[in-house]
Amino acid sequence: MRTSGSREHQVVVVGGGFGGLQAVSNLRRAPAEITLVDRRNFHLFQPLTYQVATGALSPGEIAYPLRAIFKRDRNVRVLLAEVADFDLDARELHLRSVSAVPAPERLGYDTLIVAGGSHYSYFGHEEWRMHAAEVKSIESALAVRSRLLAAFEAAEGEPNAEARDAWLTFVVVGAGPTGVEMAGQIAELARDTLRRDFRTIDPRRARILLVEAADRVLTSFPPSLSAKAERSLQRLGVTVLTGRTVIGIDAAGVTFEGGDGGGERIATRAIVWAAGVTASGLAGKLAELTGAEHDRAGRITVESDLTLPGHPEVFAIGDMVRVRDPGGEPVVLPGFAPVAMQQGRYAAGVVRARLRGREHGAFRYRDKGNLATIGRAAAVADIKGVRLGGFAAWATWLLVHLWYLIGFQNRVLVLIRWSFSFATHGRGARLITGASTNSEQR
Ligand SMILES: Cc1cc2nc3c(=O)[nH]c(=O)nc-3n(C[C@H](O)[C@H](O)[C@H](O)COP(=O)(O)OP(=O)(O)OC[C@H]3O[C@@H](n4cnc5c(N)ncnc54)[C@H](O)[C@@H]3O)c2cc1C
Repeated sequence: MRTSGSREHQVVVVGGGFGGLQAVSNLRRAPAEITLVDRRNFHLFQPLTYQVATGALSPGEIAYPLRAIFKRDRNVRVLLAEVADFDLDARELHLRSVSAVPAPERLGYDTLIVAGGSHYSYFGHEEWRMHAAEVKSIESALAVRSRLLAAFEAAEGEPNAEARDAWLTFVVVGAGPTGVEMAGQIAELARDTLRRDFRTIDPRRARILLVEAADRVLTSFPPSLSAKAERSLQRLGVTVLTGRTVIGIDAAGVTFEGGDGGGERIATRAIVWAAGVTASGLAGKLAELTGAEHDRAGRITVESDLTLPGHPEVFAIGDMVRVRDPGGEPVVLPGFAPVAMQQGRYAAGVVRARLRGREHGAFRYRDKGNLATIGRAAAVADIKGVRLGGFAAWATWLLVHLWYLIGFQNRVLVLIRWSFSFATHGRGARLITGASTNSEQR
């Protein structure tokens, strides 16, 4: 491993998400200088962005500044910049500045760990994005929050019954964990939180539709838990429409095709997108430069030690990769935080082993289970074959999320918020913000 002269070994980690954060945390005691580059100055706990989108939590409670996480680690430097390209031969990154903060144009490394994550894809229909917002980032979660709350406001002032019904129809596309959680939260918002807030409309009459192309919700869970989740959703007042493929989205509604090939149109002004993800563009760049394979979702195929073919000094991890098994077959692991975290820890372990001149075995994913929440005291969990539903699964979900949330203060604040909401059915962060309110600034 290259360590030029007395200079410390330079490790650059791209992305302060779940994978990158674990890589840096597990390198802070290593004899190396680590630079963490991210285009955001904070780590975002994506599993709870849907709670920001429904007013249950505020953005600051699920995000934490990267500098604060590593403030005591003298060998860790945080750099706010966007990675634009790689020069693998020169072992350099090309950077772009973010928010007008100057950044060096190039950054050298001895070891590079890339954890750029993924983003939602609209199956080649980018034009749907403006009508069907997703909840991947703080900004998009806030946009969804404004759109949901504004729909109730618009319905309150709408004299025409048909138009009012459209405002009170909410469609969530995709019934994976995020879609199920979103639909459940919108239902609780309408039936519980807002039920006494309006004078003309009854928010409890809102229609919440969860549309899924597969034949059941939560396809990553065993069928018995999918059925349980569907029953919980129905109890909350969510209409689950499986076997429907969305074929059109515009400002006035959504069109989908059923299993029988027939089309169906739903008039709605509030659509949330929770279907399909594509790997970060950084995966495509690395695949181009190394000739590594990539799949239809843009994930680059890495070797069984998570390095790029021909470049043992470059690791790629998390949502943007699929991994070759010891037999050489590419395996797609679930796009979940624990996969990225284990890969981040593993990559750091390999770097530490190499610095000591030792060998390291191949990466092995340890599946610790699968959790999804639906609403108050309703969740499903599949933990090493133990299948839980209801309160037990919900309590497990709560503890796991609090445990992994970054920052002691955030854990306390979220616990207080959740306890308060549980007791009062309230949601404190029901604010409509954003572009439509900018007239105040003119
Ligand atoms: C709404 C939602 C809910 C989810 N819920 C769950 C859940 O309940 N449980 C679960 O296990 N998983 C969940 N996931 C999935 C989980 O969040 C991801 O699997 C995990 O974040 C992947 O980690 P990562 O490190 O690969 O990428 P990320 O955590 O996405 O981190 C990528 C980082 O790279 C940075 N970055 C990207 N491109 C650049 C660039 N060019 N230059 C500089 N920086 C860059 C980004 O700013 C970001 O900080 C959810 C995801 C979403 C979107």
